[in-house]
Amino acid sequence: MIDLEAARSRVLADCAPAAPQRVPLVGALGLVLAEEVDAPEAVPPFASSAMDGFAVRAADVAGAGADHPVVLRVVGTLPAGAAPVVAVGPGEAIRIMTGAPLPPGADAVAIVELTRPSGGDDAAVEILARAEPGEHIRPAGEDLAAGQRVFGAGTVLGPGHLGVLASIGRPDVAVHPSPVVGVLSTGDELVGDGSPLGPGQIRDSNRLTLLSLLRRDGFGAVDLGIARDDEDDIRRRMTEGAERCDALLTSGGVSMGDFDYVKAVLDRLGAMNWMQVAIRPAKPFAFGVVAGTPVFGLPGNPVSSMVSYELLARPGLRRLAGHPADALVRPSVRAVAEAALGRPGDERVTYTRVVAAARPDGRIGVRSAGGQGSNLLWPMALANALAVLPPGPGVPAGGEVEVLVLD
Ligand code: AMP
Ligand code: MG
Repeated sequence: MIDLEAARSRVLADCAPAAPQRVPLVGALGLVLAEEVDAPEAVPPFASSAMDGFAVRAADVAGAGADHPVVLRVVGTLPAGAAPVVAVGPGEAIRIMTGAPLPPGADAVAIVELTRPSGGDDAAVEILARAEPGEHIRPAGEDLAAGQRVFGAGTVLGPGHLGVLASIGRPDVAVHPSPVVGVLSTGDELVGDGSPLGPGQIRDSNRLTLLSLLRRDGFGAVDLGIARDDEDDIRRRMTEGAERCDALLTSGGVSMGDFDYVKAVLDRLGAMNWMQVAIRPAKPFAFGVVAGTPVFGLPGNPVSSMVSYELLARPGLRRLAGHPADALVRPSVRAVAEAALGRPGDERVTYTRVVAAARPDGRIGVRSAGGQGSNLLWPMALANALAVLPPGPGVPAGGEVEVLVLD
């Protein structure tokens, strides 16, 4: 048996990031940036008003107060999008809207709430409070200076990042494309089409679960169906899948049974690494590269396939997608066990399915989501986290425990 980190290292060594491609911003959400981006221009590009009000000379209104207003002549109006045509001279003001460029001569904005029309028309305004130089003005380059580094390679592009790229006029970006991943179930017992179950048959749940995990994580997902426990069928589907996809997930057929052919096929097609990983669930795991395509041979038990995906396949797929080395595995958080979390007395690290929720004291509390058998998918579905229990006695009620929060 090897520990999880060693198994993960073998996987990651064969999952090189996909070559960068240039994509329009609208197609870049969730992808990993493959270039350094600098701002070609300042954002905002000009000094503008942060409020609706009047562009003034601060010196003119230094003595203004509610009971001794300063009266200024209004010499123009500037909506957002307009270019200033006149300057603000001594004793003058320009009516200005949020986002409009600051006119020459003005160095402050008096907000409209602290003004009132003078003498009943718009030609003059009473300023009811002093304004400091620079007040309610957004300087040019306040967000980004021209030439500054905006984002580095390895940044995951979220909605805000894409907005920033739009704000500097970028039409496209170089990103690592997200891998397209095929999912193949294996097993003579599996029924995938909803027809009545015959003797010894069960329904294929892994395929939909794994396809859905891939979609949740932003990868492309391709359904490769069910292979029979037959070397030729597995080989044919695996080879076709490897041609169509950037990576493959199979489930089943990697344990010690007489009909576990995934290992044998992987061995024949690629540099197979079969592993017994010192974790519970998901001990058996096979990994190989078929025609340049990484193949993750996940165990067949439904909980095992999900946990194996989380701990071994997902980090490899994230590496294909260009995520940096420190962002491949989920960060763990410390939580409090609301009730004792037991574990078997072996040397494998146990990943207990738990429900995590905020406690009144602000910490995260976890409790078991139910039965912990690797075949029991329902408690796994109810769980939102895995509690990591190293070999030993488990965690008593009120004890601290490391938790991987699944989302
Ligand atoms: P295996 O790893 O092929 O020995 O399968 C281990 C257990 O998982 C067996 O009880 C299988 O019937 C079950 N199993 C395998 N594949 C699936 C699947 N796609 N959906 C649900 N259960 C499965
Ligand atoms: Mg099987």
